[in-house]
Amino acid sequence: MTKATNFIDGVWREGSLGTLEMINPSYGTKIGEIARSGASDVDLAVRAANRAFSSVWKQTPAAERSRMLRKAADLLLHHADELAEIESADTGKPLRQAQNDARQIVRYLEFYAGAAEHIHGDTIPVSAEHLVFTKRVPLGVTGHIIPWNYPLQMTGRTLGAALAAGNATVLKPAEDACLAVVRAIELMSKAGFPPGVINLVTGTGEEAGQALADHPGIHHLAFTGSPEVGAHVMKCSAAHIRPVVLELGGKSPQVVFADADLERALPVLVNAIIQNAGQTCSAGSRVLVQQEIHDLLVERLADRFRSLAVGPADGNPDVGPLVSEKQLERVRTFVDEAVTAGAEIAAQATVDFAPSGSPSQSYPSPDSTSQSSHSLETLSPDSSAPDSSAPDFPSHGFFYPPTLLTHVDPQSTIARKEVFGPVLVVIPFRDEEEAIRLANDVEYGLVAAVWTENLGRAHRVADAIDAGQVYVNGYGAGGGVELPFGGMKKSGFGREKGFEALHEVTAVKTYVINKG
Ligand code: NAP
Ligand code: MG
Repeated sequence: MTKATNFIDGVWREGSLGTLEMINPSYGTKIGEIARSGASDVDLAVRAANRAFSSVWKQTPAAERSRMLRKAADLLLHHADELAEIESADTGKPLRQAQNDARQIVRYLEFYAGAAEHIHGDTIPVSAEHLVFTKRVPLGVTGHIIPWNYPLQMTGRTLGAALAAGNATVLKPAEDACLAVVRAIELMSKAGFPPGVINLVTGTGEEAGQALADHPGIHHLAFTGSPEVGAHVMKCSAAHIRPVVLELGGKSPQVVFADADLERALPVLVNAIIQNAGQTCSAGSRVLVQQEIHDLLVERLADRFRSLAVGPADGNPDVGPLVSEKQLERVRTFVDEAVTAGAEIAAQATVDFAPSGSPSQSYPSPDSTSQSSHSLETLSPDSSAPDSSAPDFPSHGFFYPPTLLTHVDPQSTIARKEVFGPVLVVIPFRDEEEAIRLANDVEYGLVAAVWTENLGRAHRVADAIDAGQVYVNGYGAGGGVELPFGGMKKSGFGREKGFEALHEVTAVKTYVINKG
């Protein structure tokens, strides 16, 4: 059981509003407590960050910032297995995926350690009498509100860029999963950052998040989460004329033409929607397929969906639980309403998980032909396994079977809204023109993929789709740490990752030196 507190001005402090319980979504059991923070905690953190920025951090050379980030990366790498175990238990993501996330936070800090020394301006040839040059200067204190789906990775990506550029930071992770973030901050805090440069305030969105969004002492706000809350924090920021970066998810299309290499595409199409149980902003949640191969592709996808292993995260299944009961209900409602509206369930995996000593929870699909290949009953749950003395929580985890939907009306809710669960819709198209129209006919524009062997068509379609990232014959959930990442339309604006992120957290300052 972990009891986590806030980290403010280099000191670990209790939250002013008490504590919040952390749940392991694989078993529905309590695994820890975090600080429940409010406006006074956030205020302490923002003040500490401002003091640290003006007194020391602003003057700290890039080479030193780089060295600290590198050291932080090394510390995290040294504890990667431990971080992965915490992340897996807290979010419900299969251990292997959490191990990847633990390596990714390391990569973010490594990348931004390198980048810190390459943030520079230009000289601008104006006239012989003037020397004009620009510098990229930090904004001051940056606020960071991150969600529960990739807590470790998001911490690395958002803090990495801000710290490399010389900002002091205040991070508010999500109440549903932040235990690994607390441990990561503890490790990072040993890398030599002056007190107040990294602050962590945990709690609910309505309390801690709102206080951060409202605080006048923040000079930039990076937000990842839902469009509704994104719009809200943008409004709060408008009151302070403060820039924001909003990363708000998507309904990302994978466009499969009849000439596509299906052997290559199939595992990628499936992985793009089951990774992290579909709770990924860049999940490939819509397959648009050319009419001629629609039935074949559905049949092949269906086979794969039925054979997916679903179970507790520590057993390393293909798909773990959703993060919370609320998320489970949300996904269930989406699918139930889609079916009522005429969609057909072409395939569903089977959730067959019985915690020791309790009856099996089984949700087979009506047409499911094969059982999960994973024998979940034989798992030996860890210390966070079901505790029959915990009456406040369900005795099983928050599992939803990966679901493949066909006969989906492109205008229906399931075809247009972000489900954030392992639910894939397949929609046919006739030709290139219709494929592009369908791909763009949603409010989002985060990621897309084009599958074709025709080079010209690959380029044409990639150009025509409105998305922040487009893949050809492949798919990356946002890609590596080096690739600029962010949305068009309601997927948000601003870019994280890569060098591009450094532009968001710096301002260009122009110097004009009169030589006369
Ligand atoms: P959310 O409410 O937008 O939460 C995202 C972050 O904002 C969390 O840290 C949350 O804190 C915080 N927050 C909530 N209300 C706030 C407020 N009034 N002021 C400041 N911060 C606030 O998203 P959610 O409820 O977790 O998930 C709902 C849906 O959003 C998902 O089903 C999915 O469709 C979408 N989503 C997208 C992403 C993405 O990666 N783009 C990530 C998560 C969710 P608490 O969680 O602690 O309350
Ligand atoms: Mg949890």
